[in-house]
Amino acid sequence: MSQGAPGDTIAAISTPLGMGGIGIVRLSGPQAQPIAQKIFRRRGQEGASLLSHRFYLGEVIRPEDQTVIDEVLLVFMSQPKTYTREDVVEIQCHSGILVLKEILQVVLRSGARLAEPGEFTKRAFLNGRIDLTQAEAVIDLISAKTRESLDLANRQRAGKLATEVRLIKEGLLNLLTSLEAGVDFPEEEIPEISPAEISRQIKNSLERLNALWQTYQEGRIYREGIAAVIVGKPNVGKSSLLNSLLGEDRAIVTAIPGTTRDTIEEIINIQGIPLRILDTAGLRHARDLIEEEGVKRTKKHLSQADLAIWVLDGSQPANSEDLAILPEIQSKKTIIAVNKNDLPQRIALESLRAKLPETPFIPVSALYGSGIDRLKEVIRGLVLNGKLESSAEIIIANLRHKQAIEAARDSLSQAWQSLKANLSYEFIILDLKPALESLGEILGEETSEDVLDRIFGQFCIGK
Ligand code: GDP
Repeated sequence: MSQGAPGDTIAAISTPLGMGGIGIVRLSGPQAQPIAQKIFRRRGQEGASLLSHRFYLGEVIRPEDQTVIDEVLLVFMSQPKTYTREDVVEIQCHSGILVLKEILQVVLRSGARLAEPGEFTKRAFLNGRIDLTQAEAVIDLISAKTRESLDLANRQRAGKLATEVRLIKEGLLNLLTSLEAGVDFPEEEIPEISPAEISRQIKNSLERLNALWQTYQEGRIYREGIAAVIVGKPNVGKSSLLNSLLGEDRAIVTAIPGTTRDTIEEIINIQGIPLRILDTAGLRHARDLIEEEGVKRTKKHLSQADLAIWVLDGSQPANSEDLAILPEIQSKKTIIAVNKNDLPQRIALESLRAKLPETPFIPVSALYGSGIDRLKEVIRGLVLNGKLESSAEIIIANLRHKQAIEAARDSLSQAWQSLKANLSYEFIILDLKPALESLGEILGEETSEDVLDRIFGQFCIGK
């Protein structure tokens, strides 16, 4: 891993490239200040050097012909008290696509190179300002969809997970040191660590790792959300139900870049859990689709979903068109919304209940909003598997962390077995080392370039 400050200066547009009040071009590296001086003209103060952590009003110019690109606010932040621990310059300009691109161009022409995705945060990590869990928390923060997922990301960003991992690691490192001293200097007067003490240490670490591990299921749900699909024959009220579920919370609509509006994903906030509704375009345009196409789409999205919400029209007897869905949802976590309960109910549910004994049936009226809160409660319960929510302060939400914890746990269990089998301490040492390495991986102490590329590649350029 290439530790330390890379020598070059990077630059990127750090705000979304579009029209808006303010856009930011950011630079980091040793040339940040000299480049700023080349392209920035301060009112009445030409050429004067820039003080750190201060805003200046002025203009960005093309140095070749001194023509003006935009009026901006510029801040220079001298290292090490910066995001990357290098010199940083941020240029706040008007957010017009051309303005942003032109400013970036003059910055690049003046000696910076275009940053890779996540490279600013990667530098913060490589320069030791944050550990890998904190860097990962930055992505989670940006992509958080509910307050709960934001809280989770913020706790990790503040270093809560890292602190716990470090404490576990320290305990094991002390144990390792004592064991090694006993093995390396058997004749010396080092009081030998007792098997009871070794056992206590290993057990304590295992318990703490288990406590972290157990929070993953819930953490993942809050971080990534649950993919759900609303299914049912035409006219039962699927899109009405979607609107009713979205209610006033319909805040976040994410357009997936590079695609048409058709792949817009609606996110419903179910008491903090982001429920991502797949194929909302399909729902809205269902009437335009020929039936066969509709069934194909339903199948495809069901296969990608964690949860199916099957809508039935309670004011009509169920018919073969309803029942055609049954085989598709049989192996899925499903909730049945029996809709239109504001009308006289003519649906017979007994045989369906018998076929789906585990599936909750919730009467609702998508039109009037009744039963929707109950439906949300049941969705939440089902998604969390009826488990009580953990009161744990530190929650892991990232597969990478979970896997490293599992690896550390396996090595420690092995160490415990060796102890119970009265094997010599050398064997315990051999098991402790990989456990320490796995914990180091979480923090980014022993992480390969590949893993780093994968992590920082998820960032946008400019972060
Ligand atoms: P979809 O084809 O399954 O998406 O169904 P829609 O949501 O478009 O609804 C079909 C029709 O049923 C529309 O006329 C809705 O107004 C009506 N509808 C939907 N939900 C309810 C409800 O809870 N009660 C009543 N009375 N009508 C409803």
